[in-house]
Amino acid sequence: MRPVNKGTSPYEKITTYQEAEPFLNTRIGRYCSFCELPVFHVPEIEHKEGKASGGNLTEWGNLLYACKYCNTRKAQKVKAGELGNWLWPDEDNTFLAFTYFDGYPRVNEAFLKNKGYDVYQKAVLLFKGVCLDFQPQSVRDKDKRWQKRIDTLGQAERSWKAWQKIKDTEFRVDYLDTIIISAKNTGFFSVWMSVFKGDQEIKNALIDSFPGTSRDCFDQEGNPIIRKGGKI
Ligand SMILES: [Zn+2]
Repeated sequence: MRPVNKGTSPYEKITTYQEAEPFLNTRIGRYCSFCELPVFHVPEIEHKEGKASGGNLTEWGNLLYACKYCNTRKAQKVKAGELGNWLWPDEDNTFLAFTYFDGYPRVNEAFLKNKGYDVYQKAVLLFKGVCLDFQPQSVRDKDKRWQKRIDTLGQAERSWKAWQKIKDTEFRVDYLDTIIISAKNTGFFSVWMSVFKGDQEIKNALIDSFPGTSRDCFDQEGNPIIRKGGKI
C-alpha cells in the first residue's frame, strides 16, 4: 500500500469535503489510498474516521482517496477517536505492512509480528477493513479490483522482460519513460514495485513519479524503511 505524504493543510477552512478534491489530486494523485486502483474518473473522498461516526468532515488530516469498493467496505468501521486502531498510508509506511507476491496482497506477517502484536493487529484491521484480497464468489460481483490488479501484474511483468533487453541500449531513457507512464496509467504502485524489486533505478523512478509518494519511507535504493513518526 503506497505511503503518501499529504503535507500540511492547503486550506484554512472549507465548507464541504468535496472542496478538498483538487488539493488531494495535486498532493497524492487520483489513486485509491488503500487498494491503489486508479480513480481518475470517480475520485471518492475517504474519511479516515467515518463521516457518519463523528469523524471530522473537512479536516485535511482526516481525508484520503478511496475507490468505491474500499470506501463502501470500510464504511463506518473507524469511529471518531479510533484512528490509532489502524495503520494509515499518510501516517505509517504501509508499504512495509503488505506484500504483493504474484500480484496478491497479503499481510506481511513475518515483518509485522517482529514489530509486535499490536502493529500486526492494526495492519490486519486495515487489510480486512477494505477486503484488500477480495476474490469474487460470483460473476455478478461488481468488485473487479482483483482483475485490474492482475492485469497490471501482467503489464508490469512484460515491461520487466522488455527492460532487461533494452536497459543497456541507447533506448533506455525512452523505455524507462514508457514504463513510468504505463505504471501511472494502470495504478497499483505496489505491484510495479514488487515486479521491479531488483531494479533500484525503476523503483526510485516509480517513487518519484507517483504524486505524493512518501520519499522518507524509502532509502536511496528504493527499499522501504520505517517512517519517522509512524507506527511502522
Ligand atoms: Zn480501493
